Amino acid sequence: MEKLILFDLDGTLTRTQNGYLPFNEAILETFGVGGDIRSVIPDGNTDPHIVREIFAKANIEIGIDSGHWEQFAKNLQRSYSRALREATTTVHALPGAPELLAALSTKTEFSQGVVTGNFEVTAQVKLEAAGLNSYLCRGAYASDSPHRPDLPRIAKKRWERRTGKSLRDEQCVIVGDTPKDLDAARQNHMKCVLVGTGRYPWEELQYWKPDACLADLTDTLEVINIFLNL
Ligand SMILES: [Mg+2]
Repeated sequence: MEKLILFDLDGTLTRTQNGYLPFNEAILETFGVGGDIRSVIPDGNTDPHIVREIFAKANIEIGIDSGHWEQFAKNLQRSYSRALREATTTVHALPGAPELLAALSTKTEFSQGVVTGNFEVTAQVKLEAAGLNSYLCRGAYASDSPHRPDLPRIAKKRWERRTGKSLRDEQCVIVGDTPKDLDAARQNHMKCVLVGTGRYPWEELQYWKPDACLADLTDTLEVINIFLNL
């Protein structure tokens, strides 16, 4: 049975060091007001949601329209690219992620894409920096919707349009590192595997009862077996 594996980025496939530098720079450039991503817990949220939470927490009232988000995405892409070039910010693949994606890409029963709260342009920058870009098809991003539970079905539809095939919801597997990834999967009747490589250890993630829970993605064969048996 064919399966579409939809990976979250931050804390699941990649880890960013000093990501707050380009993020905060883009906030200031876009909105003309300073904001600090370190004042909130961003894990599992989309970038627009994170920015709104930063302003709310700082009691800054600001009118935001869709033009702001387009500009914010552009500024973020530019800030991220520069920070990576200057190595003030780094993005690397988490252990096992490159091997898992390489192995999945050789198996015809699997397709793999991204479901992330990053804007598409920044997701691309991060994936390229981590060397994972070539393995993943276009998925769904904060630029498609600021509401994370909308994203899995957008990624599925995109895959179906591109391949001309159709999938049942339960043939899709969300792989993430937070209860919010699980919630997005459940709202779309999709399977969910959580990994303990983000903010939450796997023992804590297990409490939410995902379909499977792993400490990390290092055991390629075990992960693929889990995907096959879901
Ligand atoms: Mg994440």
